[in-house]
Amino acid sequence: MSTRYQSITGTFDILPEAYDSGGTRIPGTPAWQYVESTIREVMGRYHYEEIRTPILEPTELVARGIGEQTDIVTKEMFAFERGDTRYVLRPEVTAPVMRAFLQHHLEQRGGVQKLYYIGPCFRAEKPQKGRYRQFHQFGVEIIGAQTPRADVESIGLMMACYQALGIGNTRLRINTIGGVEARQKYVEALTNFLEPYRDDLSEASRRRLEKNPLRILDTKLDHEKEILKEAPRIVDYVTSESRQHFDEVKARLTDLDISYEEDPFLVRGLDYYTETAYEVHSEHLGAQSALGGGGRYDLLAAEIGSDRPVPAVGFAAGFERMFLALEAEDVDLPGPQTPDVFIVALGESAREWTFETAHELRDAGVSVHYDLKARSMRSQMREADRQQVQFAVIIGDQELEKSAAAVKHMPSGEQVDVPFDELADVLHGNELP
Ligand code: AMP
Repeated sequence: MSTRYQSITGTFDILPEAYDSGGTRIPGTPAWQYVESTIREVMGRYHYEEIRTPILEPTELVARGIGEQTDIVTKEMFAFERGDTRYVLRPEVTAPVMRAFLQHHLEQRGGVQKLYYIGPCFRAEKPQKGRYRQFHQFGVEIIGAQTPRADVESIGLMMACYQALGIGNTRLRINTIGGVEARQKYVEALTNFLEPYRDDLSEASRRRLEKNPLRILDTKLDHEKEILKEAPRIVDYVTSESRQHFDEVKARLTDLDISYEEDPFLVRGLDYYTETAYEVHSEHLGAQSALGGGGRYDLLAAEIGSDRPVPAVGFAAGFERMFLALEAEDVDLPGPQTPDVFIVALGESAREWTFETAHELRDAGVSVHYDLKARSMRSQMREADRQQVQFAVIIGDQELEKSAAAVKHMPSGEQVDVPFDELADVLHGNELP
């Protein structure tokens, strides 16, 4: 069978079973469900509450929140207009969560709001391994806490998720990027430093030198990395309060035995970050090595219209890269779920019985599958085999007459007759009576 239509480049279907798409393995839905439920379980232990915000957001929110000069806003947004309204498919979830927090006055619930989310995001990036146009993130936002402990809790929670999933080879990188003034001074110093090298920079970096010099620090080009070795470091420009905050973050990471590396050039791409910035990398991922990252974003609330500052810290992490790391570390993920029972029906009366009995058994909590096409006994048995069911229930005219079904325990091949009224009980267990 075929169709003229294909999923859009940079997006992918998630099917009941894993498959290969352009050299990348796309895990099946059971693997996604398993990973999601593991994350939810960890979130529960840390007592974070789930929040779900719309995929569609006002373009203005995203542009102001993330920053007009960021790559995401200048060239990666899926944005469109209808009537007077400009919409964007959310490229990340932090600005939407902060919008929801402000819109619904969640501060009135009292205390610190500790929220998590799981869902798709959209960026018009050049698709490649680990980089899609529709991808999936999970993340947390701790809103209303200024303490370095909050920063460390968000980091610890992120690491706990990877640990629960069995991803071992991770590296945490941290930095401080201070407040607005420090950043301005630093951008100036960095620009002055890079100016004499202008001709050696790539075209993209030359453009960034004008618009968003911090982004040059993310360069993947070796000769630019070489130039940057001597570049000024933001940590030397931050206030003593910022440095104190950062020192405490590091001390508390050590308290929790979370090892880290300081990366003086880690600035993260988005404008709303202040103070602590961090990323978790996997040794297996090559160029797109960041599993996720986060930091403090005390300026975001004011940027999107809050009349009061709202301190906040959180992280966002990608599922697709997490799956790459899981695959590289040979972590077993669940495959397709199998039904407990397959009913093999011979003849019209048996099909009628099957139709009703399946309904009753399902009501009683047994997972039942049967053939909706009226195929031969052989192909039904083959299907029961393929589905790796525990029991095949075989029913024909004889069985109907006896009011007892032939129940075959598939792993052992053993078969017994089970009266209809005992069927549910037998099928609930794992063995034949
Ligand atoms: P960011 O908000 O850019 O820091 O992204 C956080 C995490 O989301 C990254 O570390 C990735 O794991 C994931 N991510 C971001 N953009 C993409 C993308 N285009 N495709 C797949 N994953 C992405």
